[in-house]
Formats: sequence, C-alpha cells, structure tokens
Amino acid sequence: MSKKIVLRDDEMPTSWYNVVPDIPNGLQPPLDPETNEPMGPEKLSVIFPMGLLEQEMSAERFIKIPDEVLEVYKIWRPSPLVRASNLEKALGTKAKIFFKNEGVSPVGSHKPNSAVAQAYYNKREGVKRLATETGAGQWGSALSMATNRFGLECKVYMVRVSYDQKPYRKSIMQAFGAGIVASPSSDTNTGRAILESHPDTPGSLGIAISEAIEDAATRDDTNYALGSVLNHVILHQSIIGLEAKKQMEIAGEYPDVIIGCCGGGSNFAGLMNPYLPDHLEGRKIRFVGVEPASCPTMTAGKLAYDFGDVAKTTPLIYMYTLGHDFIPPGIHAGGLRYHGMAPTVSALVGEKIIEPVRVHQMECFEAGILFAKTEGIIPAPETCHAIRGAVIEATKDLNDPKTILFNFSGHGLIDMGSYDKYFSGELHNYDYPEEQIAEVLYH
Ligand SMILES: *Cc1c(COP(=O)(O)O)cnc(C)c1O
Repeated sequence: MSKKIVLRDDEMPTSWYNVVPDIPNGLQPPLDPETNEPMGPEKLSVIFPMGLLEQEMSAERFIKIPDEVLEVYKIWRPSPLVRASNLEKALGTKAKIFFKNEGVSPVGSHKPNSAVAQAYYNKREGVKRLATETGAGQWGSALSMATNRFGLECKVYMVRVSYDQKPYRKSIMQAFGAGIVASPSSDTNTGRAILESHPDTPGSLGIAISEAIEDAATRDDTNYALGSVLNHVILHQSIIGLEAKKQMEIAGEYPDVIIGCCGGGSNFAGLMNPYLPDHLEGRKIRFVGVEPASCPTMTAGKLAYDFGDVAKTTPLIYMYTLGHDFIPPGIHAGGLRYHGMAPTVSALVGEKIIEPVRVHQMECFEAGILFAKTEGIIPAPETCHAIRGAVIEATKDLNDPKTILFNFSGHGLIDMGSYDKYFSGELHNYDYPEEQIAEVLYH
C-alpha cells in the first residue's frame, strides 16, 4: 500500500456536510441576552453576511461549495491522507494509524477551510472589510490570506502577548496585506477603557473578540469573522472528513476510532462529522476529542448557556464552558485555550457520542517529537494533543489491530519558540485552576 493517498482536484467533494440535522435531540438555539429569547438573524446581520447566517441556521444536510471557493481550495486541497507506518513501528503496535494532513495549507493549518468561505460570502454581499481577533496568530494568518484572495481589507486584533512574542505570525499577516494591532488597542472604546485601567495587560482572546466585534458593529463597510465554534465554521471544516472518507475507502480501510484536538472544536468536528451518520446507523466507530488538562472544557466544564467573550457582547450560546471569564494557564497550545466548545461538539459530548479526554502538555510535546522523528513533520503544539491521543489508543493493547484516524491540524514550523522552551526545560504541566471554574459558573 502506498504511504499516502492523494485525490485529484476533480475528486474533491463539491458540497459541505452540515451535521446539525443529524444531532440526536437537536441543538439549543442561541439566546439574546437582553430578552432570553432565541436570537434571530436580524440582530446578527449587523456583523455577519446573510450567506453565512443562512448556513448557521440551516437544516440541510449538504450545502454546495461555491466554485469560487473550490478554486481557492485547489491551492492546497485535496490534502493528503497518510499512513503513519513509521510511528506504528516505533510504538510496536499492530494498530494502523492514519492522519489527514491539514498542515499543507498556505498558512500551515486547517483554518483557511473556513476563512476562504467566510471571505467569499462577505465579498458577495458587498462587504469591504473584515475585523477579527487572533490569539496565537493561526486564524489571523488564515483570514489575511483569504481576504487578500477576494480583495477585502482585513483588520486583526492580536492578543498583546502573542503580538510581542510571535513576530513571524505578524509578518505573515502583513505579507497578505492585513492591518494588525496589539489588543487591547487604542482603536476601540473597549480597548481604550482597558488600557486606561490596565496599561500593562497582556490582553486576552476575550478582549480581542470584543474589540473586533465593536469595530464591525460600528462601521457600515465592515463585518466580523470568527475562526471556530460557530455552526458555519464547523460546516466549512467538513471538507476534511469528506475527503478523508474517500481516501480511507481507496485505502480499503474504515476507522475504528477518530481522534482530534479540541480548542473550539472545528478541526475535530471537520474530520469526524461526515462519519457520524454511519455511527447513528449502528456502525461501530468511536470519536475521541482531546483537550489540554489546563483548559478542560469538556471534561470539567458544564453544559450551559454562556457568553463567547469577556465583554458579554456575543449571544448566549449553549455549550460546554469553563465560564466566559476563565483564564487558562499559559500553555503553549494557544489554539486550545478557549473557555467554550462548539455547540455541535458539545451536544455530541452530551449525548455520549464523543468521548472527551484530557492530556498534559509535556506528554503531548513528547508525542509530537516522536512523530517528527518517525514521520518527518513537526506538528503544531495543538496538533501534538491529537497525536498523544492516537498514541494512547495505539498502545492500550499493542496486539489490537484497530484502525486509528486522527487529524493533523497543522505543522509547527512557526511555533518553534514553544519547542525551544520544551528543549531548554522551561515547560511544565499545569492543572486547571479548579476554584476559578466553580467561581465563574456559580455566580
Ligand atoms: C486553531 C487551531 C486548533 C484549535 O482550533 P479548533 O477550532 O478546535 O480546531 C488546532 N490546531 C491548530 C493547528 C490550530 O491552528
């Protein structure tokens, strides 16, 4: 069998799969915090285009991918499915391990799958400019690339600490023509107020989200874009699993277990959702979502209505949450430090269809380095969590010939600073601040 299974351009799926109609017992609607009534599309249309709001609320199983989006996808898609045969040998396992390599995208992660679609729908409705936040810089890079493709301006509010520590991410965004400011910034009311009271704050994703939403809500030519969590983002990411399913068929394999790392849930959902209908029809397949022990949204959070940001500007979203003012310890997988989990992923955890597990960052870096040595690709710190999950599955019983499929959400070449710290012994494990969770949830 060949090492990697590659599809031709014309074998790429032409529709996305929408998991919402297949979620047992359905989803709870987002609520307007002012009325506690379900939030209709009118209010949200101030910051999102109708094309995306329709997808957000759609009950259709398949939604056609516009030709303009497929054209951009073809820069790196279909992405390869690879058999991690050298990793299997190193582990001494009879399990077969496959990974879907989303690290081959122009910015090195799965995030452009949604960024390109979001830029397209905004452009189609005459929007001139998008505002967004970025933590580690992966989403900002993806949206900068996508807005550049469609001739839109892009303004990125980048969490101050990352802005100072990750200069190359900033340069990637600049190369694509985006404007970047450190958040909190003096460009918004939220930012100015925080700067006044806390001039030395390192910033947070919650603050940056609030700034980007304020920017979009106060300018006619500008909309807002979010890189995970929302139903339309999960929809766009289904291209990962739809391709993988075809590739696994070509390999003559069917996964016993699908694994992904979970920040807001979009890359894991993208890979697993197209397999959900098989599971619901009785096929034996397990879904394992891996999260950091320092930000254990699914394993220690509550399924409840909560805000998506610190300033409480978003609708109330029904999801697993650690509380909107939960501040996770500074682990090196920046993309996994969000307090909430996508409503679709949360619902499947609630239904016991997804098995959540939590792992510590040191065991993840160890797994990532073993992967680099055996398979030749250095994983992003986030992706190391999925690899750790796959290693745990493959070594539970070395004689069990099960088939494992995991999502390789991104490469780590722009995150070598984290590896540097690992090698120099500066990294250690963090448990989550349990008192803080209880505090914020029971207020
Ligand atoms: C952003 C990111 C994640 C986490 O986000 P999800 O929405 O959970 O997918 C994981 N891996 C990489 C490489 C990322 O950039």
